Amino acid sequence: MTGEEQFLKTHFQKFYQGREIMGPPEILSREFGYGIFGRKIANRNLAFQNQKEFNLFLRNSVPFFVSYSNALYKFPARRPMEAKEFFAGDLVYEFDADDLLTDCKQVHDSWLCPKCGRKGKGRQLKCDECGSATKLEEWFCTECLGAAKSRVFALLKFLEEDFGFSEGIAINFSGRAGYHVHVRNDMVRQLSHAARIELIDYLTANGLNIFSHFQKEATFFRCQSGSSGGWPQRILGKLAKVLEEGNAEKIAVMGNTTVAMAKKLLKEKAVILNSIRERQVIPSIFGRVNSKAESKSDIFWQHFLNSIVAGISPIDRQTSVDINKIVRVPETLHGETGFVSTDLSRDSLREFNPFDDSLAFSNQGTVRVFITKAPRIYLAGESFGPFKEEEAELPLNAAIFLLGRSSAVLVDKNEA
Ligand SMILES: [Zn+2]
Ligand SMILES: [Zn+2]
Repeated sequence: MTGEEQFLKTHFQKFYQGREIMGPPEILSREFGYGIFGRKIANRNLAFQNQKEFNLFLRNSVPFFVSYSNALYKFPARRPMEAKEFFAGDLVYEFDADDLLTDCKQVHDSWLCPKCGRKGKGRQLKCDECGSATKLEEWFCTECLGAAKSRVFALLKFLEEDFGFSEGIAINFSGRAGYHVHVRNDMVRQLSHAARIELIDYLTANGLNIFSHFQKEATFFRCQSGSSGGWPQRILGKLAKVLEEGNAEKIAVMGNTTVAMAKKLLKEKAVILNSIRERQVIPSIFGRVNSKAESKSDIFWQHFLNSIVAGISPIDRQTSVDINKIVRVPETLHGETGFVSTDLSRDSLREFNPFDDSLAFSNQGTVRVFITKAPRIYLAGESFGPFKEEEAELPLNAAIFLLGRSSAVLVDKNEA
């Protein structure tokens, strides 16, 4: 064990000794896994009889990461998977700031081409010199975590409005760069694998034929569902908003047309908005609707509405429906950051900032570390860095944040 690892372990152990972690509901039926320094899941197929046993494990073994299954099993510790006997499963949605293309990535992320050595700022997945896959150095900040948070609120709105789910929802910070939403009501717990995929399809509007909701008539498309909500109403609402903004360049991109065409459309803005709002109707913009052939207007609206759908969808298509996956246990530590994977209510999420509210250690005393590379970091009211190949005296939370991701080493190895 390196000095850094020992140092982290000592502090993590103090953390677990000083409190009682509640653990997930129905702890007896969950499979658990844990990680070691630098590796999130090193072992799984563990089970605990109760909260007490779970806490003893945390204090004695001091894992760097602790995860549990969304699924409930009769025999969670058995192997292989089938022997566990699945009997119900929560739905879980993960929102990761890494996946969102926010402007801050240009400031704190960088890439390196392992093949030709070219490097640059931002989240660039392919080398612009040789086309090879790059190696990313990813960080996160209040801005990208805020974007992940907005997606959480968008999902909560969908779950509530379209499915009537408002009970049995739990939210927690992941401990690093995202949030997890768990849905635990009886209705969803028994869903089959196919039904879980269908739910994802609904949320991403995958396979949604927009024109099945909008009936073609002489010179317009009429919304079939009237004002009853769901996707069609959401689409109409956003459509009105985009038109209201009146940005011709944006509309041209969204509708895959020319700026001149978009400007022509915007001249009719008042009429179009009126017909959307008053009659739930999207008018044909380039002459009459041809009932047989696909008209120019059809093609424009199809592109435009697809762009709108992509912007509204709260989750992405890669969302996992793996029923056997394990995710971070709320209120435990994330070994890469030293942050607590804080349990949140919908209200507390609004104001939550992990860089202030998920800190695990006291800020008394400092630690001297040598930092390889780090962007400017905000923690508990203070900013640090940027750093490059230099020593710094940091408060404990900040030192652990850098040591956990191996961006720094201890200067005084006896510190551990
Ligand atoms: Zn390259
Ligand atoms: Zn950021």
